[in-house]
Amino acid sequence: MPNVFSSVKNRSPVKNDLDSSGNALSQLTFEMLGLEDENRTLRQILTSSSDPILITTKEAKIVYVNPAWEKLTGYSFDEVIGENPRILQSGKTPQRVYKKMWRTLIQCKTFTSDEVINRKKNGTEYQIRASIYPVIRNDEICYYVELQHDITETKRLDDLRKEFLSVSAHELKTPITVLKLLTQSHLNKAKKQGTDTIKAQELELIDRELDRLIRLINDMLDSSRFETGKQLMTFEETDLVDITKRTVEKFKIYARNHKITIHKLLPQALIIADPLRIEQVLLNLLSNAVKYSPDETTIVISMIKRASRYVVSVKDKGVGITKNRQNLIFDRYYQVKTKSKIGFGLGLYISKEIIKRHKGKIWVVSKKGKGSVFYFSLPSSNL
Ligand code: ADP
Repeated sequence: MPNVFSSVKNRSPVKNDLDSSGNALSQLTFEMLGLEDENRTLRQILTSSSDPILITTKEAKIVYVNPAWEKLTGYSFDEVIGENPRILQSGKTPQRVYKKMWRTLIQCKTFTSDEVINRKKNGTEYQIRASIYPVIRNDEICYYVELQHDITETKRLDDLRKEFLSVSAHELKTPITVLKLLTQSHLNKAKKQGTDTIKAQELELIDRELDRLIRLINDMLDSSRFETGKQLMTFEETDLVDITKRTVEKFKIYARNHKITIHKLLPQALIIADPLRIEQVLLNLLSNAVKYSPDETTIVISMIKRASRYVVSVKDKGVGITKNRQNLIFDRYYQVKTKSKIGFGLGLYISKEIIKRHKGKIWVVSKKGKGSVFYFSLPSSNL
């Protein structure tokens, strides 16, 4: 492998030999890279790209940076030629990112990461989405081309959004808990006195609406904890059959306008799980089945064992979901627009995250206008 750096440096006094970017060194570097005159278009792309570009030898010596890279980092072309890109390291990029980068590049594959935090010449830190492509000649890696995209501002706004979501959910929780306690206390009194049924009905309505608000706030908190990896779970050996029976019984109280039936259960289904979280998944699926299907229709729950996994299904005869939306509905905040029904589009996202942390899978089979069957599977603990 020729030392591109030294050949470029040795010839650097050719100050009058300027190319279209006004840089004699880059003109020579283009020659070293094999981008001579006939590759003018490619050269123009490199020099005029608004995204920063860095090219190194396979020994990680910088041989080229474009004007956008100079602008982002504050280093000039002359200053960094021959240096190792290490000069940009802030110490804040997780070591695993570098390990993965070398593992990927050695296999001649493209490496991409959103987690690289670098430091500019003036000491300011910035975060990039880095994509590194190995350039292969004669079956050998000869250069690495790195495209960088500054995502500092996007990350900052994203962190603000997460913080806002989490703080507002916390702040809402206290007053709503107080309202819930007061409502229940008045409701109990009204029921005991047994005189003013209108008042009791109104209080019951307030109580139910408060329950919905509490569920929404909990969803906001859960979603932000899953996003930041702060969601804690307590795993233990537990029986999925018990969880299913318990959850369905609990849910029937809320779903008075639908028929909820358990079609098939196994005698026992031992799993390693956080029982409250699995209950939450099942409740989400059941409440969606009710939300998105007409009153008086039936919702059917079943459980089977497939290989070493238990599969639970919740089937409704509701509005159904078109094929192109079936994957999207598990994304955070994704909702199909409907006239009614309060919700944030978080239920299925949270369910997917919970099931993922249990090494399980969640999916849907549905036909628009015909209804949906939501499935989740969990590994049996008797492996
Ligand atoms: P939300 O119900 O608050 O909108 P979810 O994440 O639970 O949020 O669901 C996302 C979207 O998936 C819903 O807006 C709805 O369009 C669709 N969906 C979920 N469950 C069903 C179902 N059983 N039948 C039809 N559509 C459903």
